[in-house]
Amino acid sequence: MAQPGFAGRHAIVTGGAQGIGAAIAKRLQAAGARVTVWDLDGTPRVDVSDPASIEKALAATHRVDILVNNAGIAGMNKPTVDYPIEEWERVLRVNLTSQFLCCRATAPRMVKAGYGRIVNIASIAGKEGNPNAIAYSASKAGVIALTKSLGKELAQTGVLVNCVTPAAAKTAIFEQMTEGHIEYMRSKIPMGRFVEVDEIAALVCWLASEDCSFSTGAVFDISGGRATY
Ligand code: NAD
Repeated sequence: MAQPGFAGRHAIVTGGAQGIGAAIAKRLQAAGARVTVWDLDGTPRVDVSDPASIEKALAATHRVDILVNNAGIAGMNKPTVDYPIEEWERVLRVNLTSQFLCCRATAPRMVKAGYGRIVNIASIAGKEGNPNAIAYSASKAGVIALTKSLGKELAQTGVLVNCVTPAAAKTAIFEQMTEGHIEYMRSKIPMGRFVEVDEIAALVCWLASEDCSFSTGAVFDISGGRATY
């Protein structure tokens, strides 16, 4: 359903070709926004871990009102003592550095326009730390800190920066994880079920809207009761 405030707005959703990002893109579109997906898998193909790829995509973009930093990977499940540094660096690059790069590239345009909404997808793992997922957990904790930092920096510009910390959602990202890890994540959710991608999209769309007007640098829980802060 179209919502006031989204007409004429242009949203970029990274990693929006499938899963949570696709649900967010669909909901923003239904609300009246124009949506461009930046994904490795899609047209145009954008690698958000590569500054040159981001610059190229941005050069083809007239305006950016909303940025949803959603692209991410799970990385391997392994005890920390066995975790390869190459995998650590890959996960940090795709999950954290990419969000820094996309914010750095798009925020100046929003600041100039005096309006913007940035929504970063973190994870409950960034608050709690999941065992056997050191790089993923650390990258998502980094997203939370990045959000707090940039939110304060831009607090008087009209550009709001917030993040969400979902519990596990059944998407293709599960294919990167062990069965044991998936069961661990489910067992930690007091509601006893995974979150639906549409539930995450609803929260993200509110954060991307004009209705969200006095929250910035904030962390929004959507963990079925798992989070204790
Ligand atoms: P997914 O694997 O279904 O989708 C991720 C998307 O990101 C894919 O379309 C992929 O092509 C894209 N992508 C990966 N690397 C990219 C890159 N370098 N450049 C551009 N696009 C890239 O995963 P999902 O479950 O939809 O996860 C989306 C986000 O939500 C991720 O940041 C993930 O960490 C986070 N998250 C997921 C869960 C969950 O359990 N599914 C829980 C909490 C947070």
